[in-house]
Amino acid sequence: MRETTLAIIKPEAVKRGLAGDILKRIQGAGLALRALRLVGLSRAQAEAFYDVHRERPFYRSLCEYMISGPVVVAALEGEGAIARWRELMGATDPAQAAPGTIRKDFGIDIEQNAVHGSDSAATAAREVPFFFSALDLVG
Ligand code: ATP
Ligand code: MG
Repeated sequence: MRETTLAIIKPEAVKRGLAGDILKRIQGAGLALRALRLVGLSRAQAEAFYDVHRERPFYRSLCEYMISGPVVVAALEGEGAIARWRELMGATDPAQAAPGTIRKDFGIDIEQNAVHGSDSAATAAREVPFFFSALDLVG
């Protein structure tokens, strides 16, 4: 099934100049870029985006981290794009992530783990419009 999913390149990866490498992996895997933007999240936006984690112990720290610098947000489209992007990303904790995944190669720790990806169709349906309107989606 053709799907659209949300990718975020997180602040520490953007700061370290890794956005190009990560976009290259995305396109190399055959996922199409439908929208792409550099965003400086406000605290309110970060808190709203991660609202599902509001009760988790790492919520405050995660929101601080996500506003610590610009992020790159992208809408990716392809066959089974949601699962395929999660596979390219690897496990949440870079130490547990499989060899060759983005988090294994570029993540620092379980919080500063380089990238985000929608985890289901329902999540993608909330997260893509969080950043992009229908007019922003090209192709
Ligand atoms: P993402 O939602 O960013 O794609 P994920 O679905 O693999 O990652 P979640 O459980 O949704 O992981 O957690 C969201 C984000 O919160 C993680 O990507 C990471 O940045 C941070 N996080 C998750 N677990 C922890 C933890 N135990 N300690 C600190 N930060 C964490
Ligand atoms: Mg998640």
